[in-house]
Amino acid sequence: MKAVRYVQAGRPPEIVDLPTPTPGPGQVLLRVAGAGVCHSDLHVLDHPMFPHAFTLGHENAGHIAALGEGVAGWKEGDAVAVYGPWGCGHCHACQGSAENYCEQHASLPVMGGGLGADGGMAEYMIVPSPRLLVPLGKLDPVQAAPLSDAALTPYHAIKAALPWLRPGADVVVIGIGGLGHMAVQLLKALTPARLIACDIDEAKLAHARALGADHTVNTRDAKQAAEALRALVGARGADVALDFVGAQPTVDLCARIVGRASRIAVVGLGGGTLHYAANQPPYGCEVSVPYWGSRTELMEVIALAEAGRIHAEVEAFPLEQAVDVYQRLREGRIQGRAVLMP
Ligand code: NAD
Ligand code: ZN
Ligand code: ZN
Repeated sequence: MKAVRYVQAGRPPEIVDLPTPTPGPGQVLLRVAGAGVCHSDLHVLDHPMFPHAFTLGHENAGHIAALGEGVAGWKEGDAVAVYGPWGCGHCHACQGSAENYCEQHASLPVMGGGLGADGGMAEYMIVPSPRLLVPLGKLDPVQAAPLSDAALTPYHAIKAALPWLRPGADVVVIGIGGLGHMAVQLLKALTPARLIACDIDEAKLAHARALGADHTVNTRDAKQAAEALRALVGARGADVALDFVGAQPTVDLCARIVGRASRIAVVGLGGGTLHYAANQPPYGCEVSVPYWGSRTELMEVIALAEAGRIHAEVEAFPLEQAVDVYQRLREGRIQGRAVLMP
């Protein structure tokens, strides 16, 4: 089978031929229908995070192709999403379904399929345990693949911010790409807050408006953007800022535009540092660095999609175009989420 492989930091991914894997005891073989192309893969490709080669793709959905010995409760052909952050499965966090915060993460050899272990940018993928599968119901796996990260990650961040997102509140969303375009829809589905979307690309801002953002601000010029945002939110400041970029200009912007007793969630891994001084960010502000989401939250995201309340805007490509698709993502030329179809 064809697979898109991480080989070495600083080099583009390679498409190679691999034998089709067979599931061992307790494992499940997935026939991949769609593998989302996440910006985190660009961080993986650029920085020496992993010492060995592996198949990329950590945002996966498809159909069960075979069950390993001892796996019950599923059958061949079932449509499933793969829960991405693979924890130890036994600690307090994992037992509570929050494998994204596994207590053993530092000693685990891989972070998940497509993040150290072989992922979904191949015709088949081994899922190490059926506990990592969530049924898709009637959803099309190609359209549903981004739910497992591009939707789950903002859902987790927004759920924790719900106490701030009351009627009359202002929420600022920075970066309307794969995660951000889902965040806009999730905020509209879950909260009455007024939503201000920010990006450096006018097409992404138009996309945010089409998805229901109340206002948009271009943040290419950080000083002008801070002034435009301040004019919108007034002296009170924003109640919540969700940063899906995480670069220095965007974390600085978050700290400048939130008010007292607010919340900042930095989701993007753009390498920025949030500086602290007295009353900066303002007093009472809570800062969080959420990572992915829990297994039960993935079930909730899928339920929202099944109810028609959210949908990923998918640009689908054949697996063979992976190298070009990563380049397009790097250049900001993907609207919504790119999904590779093996
Ligand atoms: P993406 O490339 O699809 O979207 C990024 C968006 O940010 C684009 O629309 C781009 O125009 C915009 N942008 C870039 N620089 C900007 C700036 N200075 N100001 C405003 N907008 C700007 O990326 P994605 O797949 O949505 O991922 C977003 C970030 O989230 C990445 O850093 C990724 O690694 C990270 N991520 C984190 C988690 C987590 O659990 N913490 C999970 C998934 C992804
Ligand atoms: Zn990701
Ligand atoms: Zn664990």
